[in-house]
Amino acid sequence: MDCIFCKIVKGEIPSDKVYEDDQILAFRDLSPQAPEHVLIIPKKHIESLAKAEKEDLELLGRLQLKIAKIAKDLDLEEKGYRVVSNIGKEGGQTVSHLHYHLLGGRMMQWPPG
Ligand code: 5GP
Ligand code: ZN
Repeated sequence: MDCIFCKIVKGEIPSDKVYEDDQILAFRDLSPQAPEHVLIIPKKHIESLAKAEKEDLELLGRLQLKIAKIAKDLDLEEKGYRVVSNIGKEGGQTVSHLHYHLLGGRMMQWPPG
């Protein structure tokens, strides 16, 4: 399977890692859209949230809690931050491996583009 994020998980493509355990990897986005822009992904290849299954329930919960922990470690908890997961074409997803964008360090706008 030709998946950029699976290659990052395997270490075939280098990344600026922020956190790693046996199930989760977090690394800085190559093209940051905010002073802090971290991608949090499951090591398991799941195409997007739309393709997650019941068996992924615990993993999805762990991912969310880990995002909050990483945000805290980056000193974003008090100021606030944004978590985004783009899904499919109109959602703006460009990499078909489930990932959450953690964005912080500036005032976010709403609605998003
Ligand atoms: P999406 O557009 O699918 O929501 O997000 C994909 C994100 O992955 C984009 O923000 C893009 O900058 C980032 N990205 C794409 N390729 C790489 C890469 O090889 N390394 C890193 N660190 N980020 C990448
Ligand atoms: Zn993948």
